[in-house]
Amino acid sequence: MNSAWIDHYRVLGLNFGASQESIKHRYRELAKIFHPDNKITGSKPVFLQVVESYQILSKPDARTRFDTEFQIRKKRDEGYKSGMYVIPPSRILFATQAVEFARRGLLRAGIRSSARKKYTGIYHDIRICLKKEELLGRIFAAIPLVVRSICPECMGSDLNCGSCGGKGSYKSFRYLKWSPEPGSLVPGKIYTLDLSGFRPDVFTHFKKRTLKVKIELFQGHKK
Ligand SMILES: [Zn+2]
Repeated sequence: MNSAWIDHYRVLGLNFGASQESIKHRYRELAKIFHPDNKITGSKPVFLQVVESYQILSKPDARTRFDTEFQIRKKRDEGYKSGMYVIPPSRILFATQAVEFARRGLLRAGIRSSARKKYTGIYHDIRICLKKEELLGRIFAAIPLVVRSICPECMGSDLNCGSCGGKGSYKSFRYLKWSPEPGSLVPGKIYTLDLSGFRPDVFTHFKKRTLKVKIELFQGHKK
């Protein structure tokens, strides 16, 4: 998908076709949270994006133009996805690092994570096993990752909130959708995905900053 194109509904956490009322309501909520003056949750780039998305969705002309483009893109993406190899979850495997470390007695204090990696030879976070035809074509992998979300009940601002226990945020998971360029993957190589600039939505961010993905050739399931 073109990274320059922005889904303004997604920015505001709304569905396509949301009412003007809910657009305005959500804009006010988000503007308060992300305003740069807000010392806890403020973020200038997110705030500016929220303002821009609101301006487009709240002006009938701009919104009609955006809605048309949105629907064209949606159709195109659906067609695109149908020509992809969707990788089943059974072939997206997490490196069982902690288990491996424990087995080799490497979980003792004083051993750095980099040293543990050296001993075990595990430098990746996940493995994705691909068939030959998938290595040549376009793949689509949904990788479940831990995220931290701002509490939707109190928006991170109520110390007595029953939903988050006053923490303001909570752990959850979201799928990272990965679709690298066809033919760009080589079995045995490790690819580092940068997650720092990638947010599933404005309330949520991935806990890890990078993800190391090792590509392997699928040779059937070993019993
Ligand atoms: Zn809360």
